Amino acid sequence: MSILNADLHCHSVVSDGTLTPEALAARAAANGVELWALTDHDEVGGQHRAIAAAREAGLKYLTGTEISVTFAGQTVHIVGLGFDPDDDAMRQGLTATRGGRGERAKEMAQGLARVGIHGAYEGALRHVGNPDLISRTHFARFLVESGVCRDTSEVFRKYLTEGKPGYVPHRWATLGDAVAWITRAGGVAVIAHPARYGFTANEEYALFSEFKAHGGQGVEVVTGSHTAAEYVKYAETAREFGLAASRGSDFHSPEESHTDLGQLPYLPGELTPVWELLSDRIR
Ligand code: AMP
Ligand code: MN
Ligand code: MN
Ligand code: MN
Repeated sequence: MSILNADLHCHSVVSDGTLTPEALAARAAANGVELWALTDHDEVGGQHRAIAAAREAGLKYLTGTEISVTFAGQTVHIVGLGFDPDDDAMRQGLTATRGGRGERAKEMAQGLARVGIHGAYEGALRHVGNPDLISRTHFARFLVESGVCRDTSEVFRKYLTEGKPGYVPHRWATLGDAVAWITRAGGVAVIAHPARYGFTANEEYALFSEFKAHGGQGVEVVTGSHTAAEYVKYAETAREFGLAASRGSDFHSPEESHTDLGQLPYLPGELTPVWELLSDRIR
């Protein structure tokens, strides 16, 4: 059952990806993906397009989103899978989570202007597909386009991470709210790319314990953000906490992403795949 090419994490123009839901579905199918989920940041506005595109491309589909959460002073991402895309409480929660992005973006542009980079707000907006969802990725694309940096990782390193001129701290959803929105809408909550957070062992233990206590059921083990050693580490963490395992590329763009749709190792056989918990939600 783990030998399934499932890709349950990627982004479209509805958040900070560069492809439409339709182009992603076609690309996933061409890459051999069998079960797909589109997980735009803090947004379910692309779900009905993705459902239709998956059907068209012959892919099985689970609804998805990736919710920004503030935990222990840091940003953590919680993926939701297999929920009702029309659930009102979830839609309202996501609208509130997105709400501060416009002001934050203006402050980011002010920070960049102080180091001589002008017009970043307008420049980032030109890359935005969804006016409600301006993100650091759109600023990164503007800084690459204007020749300030060679690629988006250099932009993040020099300008958009903590302590750098374009970084503006932001308070996102709480862990409890994000897990509740997903589970009450019939879905399963999954901790995204846990190795990315740079937590101490104690902080990570707190994240997993509180996530479980709130009703979270899954963790990404095989993701484009993890090394082979991290697959092993988080397979062990999944067993320790009794969590199901997920698999996803976190694909954003053919030009920027190292991991293409579906191009990942299979989940380790001894883990429970998250799609086993969601068999009645697969479309
Ligand atoms: P935001 O939600 O506006 O804070 O933007 C977060 C997004 O920025 C993530 O979902 C990634 O797509 C992107 N991102 C974060 N860190 C990096 C990095 N070091 N290199 C490239 N993209 C990054
Ligand atoms: Mn992103
Ligand atoms: Mn993420
Ligand atoms: Mn992502």
